[in-house]
Formats: sequence, structure tokens, C-alpha cells
Amino acid sequence: MTPNFSLCVYCGSRPGLDPQHLAMARTVGSWIGHHGGQLVYGGGRAGLMGEVAQATLAAGGRVVGIIPKALVEKEWAMHDCSELHIVDTMHDRKRMMAERADAFVALPGGIGTFEELFEVWTWRQLGYHDKPVGILNAGGYYDGLLSFLKTAVEQQFMSDWQMQLIQAGSEPMALLSNLVQAAGLAPAPRLDAI
Ligand code: AMP
Repeated sequence: MTPNFSLCVYCGSRPGLDPQHLAMARTVGSWIGHHGGQLVYGGGRAGLMGEVAQATLAAGGRVVGIIPKALVEKEWAMHDCSELHIVDTMHDRKRMMAERADAFVALPGGIGTFEELFEVWTWRQLGYHDKPVGILNAGGYYDGLLSFLKTAVEQQFMSDWQMQLIQAGSEPMALLSNLVQAAGLAPAPRLDAI
């Protein structure tokens, strides 16, 4: 069955300190599965990445994992993905993730998550794609980043227009629903999931 939408989730390969982050990752995966969606992600079992993928599968969603061969062991590739693509390089991974997604969202994570978020945001401002990009500011994790971005706008190194290319929200269901709808798609609940 064709998924209703394909959402790329960037998030930590670690679980983080606060168990609420793992719970939020499960909420995101369940939401994707229950709304007939497909998760596109980095293909690992570790941390929030593994949690969001397991929750998507458990809720009946499809999972597309894309992992560079050098990380297959390090990030414990999740072999029970609906599709697992083992690619040559990180660039191949990021390109394929971007191609397979209708929209992108960053959950709490570290340096890899930041890099992926900023890349897909800059690609949008350059017109390489026109897909919605969001930050799930769960538990205020991204407050410091959002505050810094405000400073960058105030200091005229960034514009309001660039900020408008990204949606930040702390409530997962509202944010995910907005992103999918902004992509022109409908996150309809599966009848068997109601
Ligand atoms: P992290 O947020 O650092 O836990 O990493 C999350 C994901 O980003 C993991 O799948 C990492 O493999 C990936 N990642 C790490 N470094 C990079 C990088 N330089 N470019 C793109 N992705 C990366």
C-alpha cells in the first residue's frame, strides 16, 4: 500500500539523559504508523533513531532506513526495516533521505542531527527543494538554538524569510500534522488504528 506521506526524521543516535526524549521518539513513530505514513531515517538501532523506527513499525507504518556501510556496525543497522539501504557514503545517505521524504523534522540529537537539519534547511533556502522542515522542540531541548537563531536575525546575518522556512513546535502531533499538510498531503488516521 502506498503510504499517505513520507516523513524524514533526524534525531540522536544516543538516547539522551532525560527518558522523556525516548518517549517523544516513540510518540513520533506511533503517530507516523497510525496515520499511514512512512518513516525515512538513518537506519540505525541505537538511541532515539532506533526508538522512532521501532515505534513506527509497531504502529503498522513503513520504515525506510538508509545507512552508510561504514556505520552498519557502529550504529547497529536495523535489519527489520521495511527497506534497508546500505549506501557507500554519508553524502549518498543524506541525498537519498532527502529524495525519499515529503517533509523533514529534527528531534533532539547531537552533531549529526544538527548537521542534517541545517543542510536540509539551507537546501530549501537555495531552492534545491520545497519541502517543509521542522524542529520538534521537545522539553525545550532546542530553546538555546532558537534563541541563538533570533540573535543571528537581529544581527542581520539571517533574514526573517529564512526563519520562515522552518517550523518549530513543542507539541509533536500538531507539528507533524502541520508539516505533512504543508507538503500538500493528508495524515489521515488508518481506520484500523482508530
Ligand atoms: P547524532 O545526532 O550525532 O547522534 O547523529 C545522528 C545521526 O547523524 C547518526 O545517524 C549519524 O550517523 C549521523 N551523522 C553523524 N555525523 C554526520 C555528518 N557529518 N553528516 C551527516 N550525518 C551525520
